[in-house]
Amino acid sequence: MGPGDPGQGPGWGFGAFTVVTVPVRLRDDLAGLPTYVAGRTVPGAVKLASNEMPLPPLPAVLTAVARAAEVGNRYPDIAVTTLTARLAEHHGVATARIAVGCGSVALCGQLVQAVCAPGDEVVYAWRSFEAYPIVTLTGHATAVPVPLTPEHVHDLDAMAAAITPRTRMVIVCNPNNPTGTAVGEDALRAFIARVPEDVLVVLDEAYREFVTDPDVPDGLGLAAEFDNVCVLRTFSKAHRLAGLRVGYAVGPAELAAALRGVSVPFSVSAPAQAAALAALDHLDELLADCAGAVTEVDRMTSALRTLGYEVPPSQANFVWLPLGTRAVGFAEHALENKVVVRAFDGSGVRVSAGTPEEVDLFLAAAGSFAR
Ligand SMILES: *Cc1c(COP(=O)(O)O)cnc(C)c1O
Repeated sequence: MGPGDPGQGPGWGFGAFTVVTVPVRLRDDLAGLPTYVAGRTVPGAVKLASNEMPLPPLPAVLTAVARAAEVGNRYPDIAVTTLTARLAEHHGVATARIAVGCGSVALCGQLVQAVCAPGDEVVYAWRSFEAYPIVTLTGHATAVPVPLTPEHVHDLDAMAAAITPRTRMVIVCNPNNPTGTAVGEDALRAFIARVPEDVLVVLDEAYREFVTDPDVPDGLGLAAEFDNVCVLRTFSKAHRLAGLRVGYAVGPAELAAALRGVSVPFSVSAPAQAAALAALDHLDELLADCAGAVTEVDRMTSALRTLGYEVPPSQANFVWLPLGTRAVGFAEHALENKVVVRAFDGSGVRVSAGTPEEVDLFLAAAGSFAR
């Protein structure tokens, strides 16, 4: 490929760019970096591809953002003091145990940087969140993906068995993105008990607010109990702030300090900090809308099963269709019907809960897909 040819570079789904040959020596291993494929936005089509809530931020949140933007010439509070204190109060944990970041994806990368030396291993389920292989590789660590069970659930026994003396971190995405499946309290407890106490267990709970099964544990309880557990939460989903970028980690104080230490300074903007605080002020309203999303997930699940699709039980705001080689064809058919879903080539399709009207449009498309 010569200078000027369009190429596909590694990175976060920026797509084609012009390759220019430069003498700068890049890391050899970047060639193997998977691309994060962001859900597409297609004008005129409904977007059910990124697990966002279909509703805009609450009016009070928009007001808070506008106010914070008025002093946009000033750097934000580097220590995210007010929001950290508020989260500490909200969850009943010490402020020292919280680290706020530019989305929980950024914190996931910071966790690798904080606990892994080059060549150390990160164990996670696969298929799971597509950011895990990226943050592992960019953090110079080695990825150890462990296949999900045939029921599309974390295989915790296999994950425990995959731990070696090089393992520094194990990620459990609960509920799992993209399958929506969740592991229960007893299984997760038994798993944590099997992990050596100097290996970090990360519980990624991006979808915690959508969980209805009482058997699915609140990771914060486990983080209070086990000194090697860290929970990741985000304001991107239930709180409708995906575009403003705020997430947080709750774990041992030494780990939280390390996460702050390796973070990019000022990475949580003032509008983002203000938005998160305002969202916490209106949590009941936000959670009521999450219940609406859960209703749509239940409706999608039963309608799709009636149509003959396999749909694993979801505890999140999306459903998974394990369509294998038909995944891309299904997504193309949905797009022809003005619905954007997220296909994972050769594996399946993830569909986020939209408004009832958006879900109706999707279900009509699913019904007309030739099976
Ligand atoms: C959406 C999502 C997140 C949230 O990422 P942010 O960076 O906070 O937007 C984290 N983990 C998983 C598994 C997710 O699906």
